[in-house]
Amino acid sequence: MISERINTLKSELPQGVRLVAVSKFHPVEAIAEAYEAGQRIFGESKVQEVCAKQELLPKDIEWHFIGHLQTNKVKYLVPFVTLIHGIDSYRLLAEVDKQAAKVDRVVDCLLQIHIAREETKFGFSMEECRQMLTTGEWKQLHHVRICGVMGMATNTEDMKQVEEEFASLSAFFREIKQRWFADVEYFKEISMGMSHDYHQAIAQGSTLVRVGTFIFGERNY
Ligand SMILES: *Cc1c(COP(=O)(O)O)cnc(C)c1O
Repeated sequence: MISERINTLKSELPQGVRLVAVSKFHPVEAIAEAYEAGQRIFGESKVQEVCAKQELLPKDIEWHFIGHLQTNKVKYLVPFVTLIHGIDSYRLLAEVDKQAAKVDRVVDCLLQIHIAREETKFGFSMEECRQMLTTGEWKQLHHVRICGVMGMATNTEDMKQVEEEFASLSAFFREIKQRWFADVEYFKEISMGMSHDYHQAIAQGSTLVRVGTFIFGERNY
């Protein structure tokens, strides 16, 4: 039962850690069931899919976009999205700002950092992210708020490695908080941890765990 798994998860989460129920590829009926159990934050990774779902579901749902976002699709998302986890270039951040300005919103964003040893995952390297922040250009973007960082660990059974990767993201969060965001209370999020590694992520300071399979079962792509 979806509701039971939501409740199990919630009882495991320490204070200050929020659950993003990753509902990608699952039908609105499954989301409605989680909603009935009290879940309000849902994560999706395809623009078309999240746009269609949000029209059909209650308006107090917080939609988090966790996928790779193409600049040409930003405009569909900004009218309703609560948090974009996957900002992986300055160009994308600037596009979110531009589109958010058009609809008179300020959209919360996380900087996606590449922490896995795999080549395939998106994200800034830590050095690229420092360089982007050093330019200071982002300070002119008044329709986005950088609220923290997001990362995905390597898909491996080696949980020690996973924990090290999460620890490196936590350390990076503290570094950039100190250097660029020390005086903003909203820079506080570390989005890390999925179904198979959220325990390790929480141990390393995650504030947002993104859990799909554990709640909804396997996805049919
Ligand atoms: C699909 C996805 C998740 C959820 O993964 P599960 O293994 O199903 O919990 C989390 N984060 C991102 C970025 C995803 O794409």
